[in-house]
Amino acid sequence: MAYITETITYVKHWNERLFSFRTTRKPTFRFKNGHFVMIGIEVEGKPLMRAYSIVSANYEEELEFFSIKVPDGPLTSRLQSIKVGDKLMLSEKSTGTLVTDYTFPGKNLWLISTGTGLAPFMSIIKDPEVYEQFDKVILTHGVRYSACLAYHNFITKELPNIEYIGDLVKEKLLYYPTVTREPSKNVGRLTDLLKSGKLAKDLGMPEVNIEDDRFMLCGSEALIKDMCKILDDKGFVAAKKRTQGHYVLENAFVAK
Ligand SMILES: Cc1cc2nc3c(=O)[nH]c(=O)nc-3n(C[C@H](O)[C@H](O)[C@H](O)COP(=O)(O)OP(=O)(O)OC[C@H]3O[C@@H](n4cnc5c(N)ncnc54)[C@H](O)[C@@H]3O)c2cc1C
Repeated sequence: MAYITETITYVKHWNERLFSFRTTRKPTFRFKNGHFVMIGIEVEGKPLMRAYSIVSANYEEELEFFSIKVPDGPLTSRLQSIKVGDKLMLSEKSTGTLVTDYTFPGKNLWLISTGTGLAPFMSIIKDPEVYEQFDKVILTHGVRYSACLAYHNFITKELPNIEYIGDLVKEKLLYYPTVTREPSKNVGRLTDLLKSGKLAKDLGMPEVNIEDDRFMLCGSEALIKDMCKILDDKGFVAAKKRTQGHYVLENAFVAK
């Protein structure tokens, strides 16, 4: 695989488990909003690469990533100490299924994420074309503790005021963060909230139905497995091998 090298321009640690960082971007590096890329560093003379979703929208000047810190993880145990000015390797080409090309047309786009599964949806909620395709875009983010609600401030305070996209965001984006292990405005697992109808009700949306609703899923294996079952039971069909479906998915936390 061919790699390019970029320079770290910004690092933000959200807490002891999560951090974000940005790199320079060559103008020739193109991607679709929702895509992932391989990123990494050289360890003992060899590239150590992992898949990462791109947080930035494809019109932004830099590339942003949102990362877990796995204490004994080969890449992230090292990557978490990355600093401005350090080099990062990236694959030349991006790819992925979390793009609206693979969903049937619909009214509402539900972006269902847990943990760092939020990353590709940060790119998608900055995409004006997505708002042209759907009446409502619903971003959900399930985490254990409120301190893990990365990008909360950006989504609620900054994004609606960005000139290029702010009006579309105010009109069409609904954001539903939920916490499972401490009291919060919204509590509970996204799967339970969807199944019981509470998610739609809390958002003032009609009950989820196959004519109007399309889904993108990104997060833990448990989320993907349980969410697929709920959607399959309702008759929704997953997109497979470059054919469209009612929902698309990416398993961002691959257990090895
Ligand atoms: C398509 C795709 C997109 C991905 N996008 C992202 C992303 O945007 N941000 C990100 O942090 N990771 C993402 N990952 C996971 C990433 O590729 C690495 O697994 C992660 O960076 C840890 O690397 P590591 O070498 O430190 O540990 P690894 O050996 O890769 O993983 C060790 C263990 O940590 C757990 N784990 C790995 N990643 C996560 C995670 N993100 N959240 C919770 N537990 C995890 C798993 O149980 C895994 O078995 C993505 C994976 C895929 C397949």
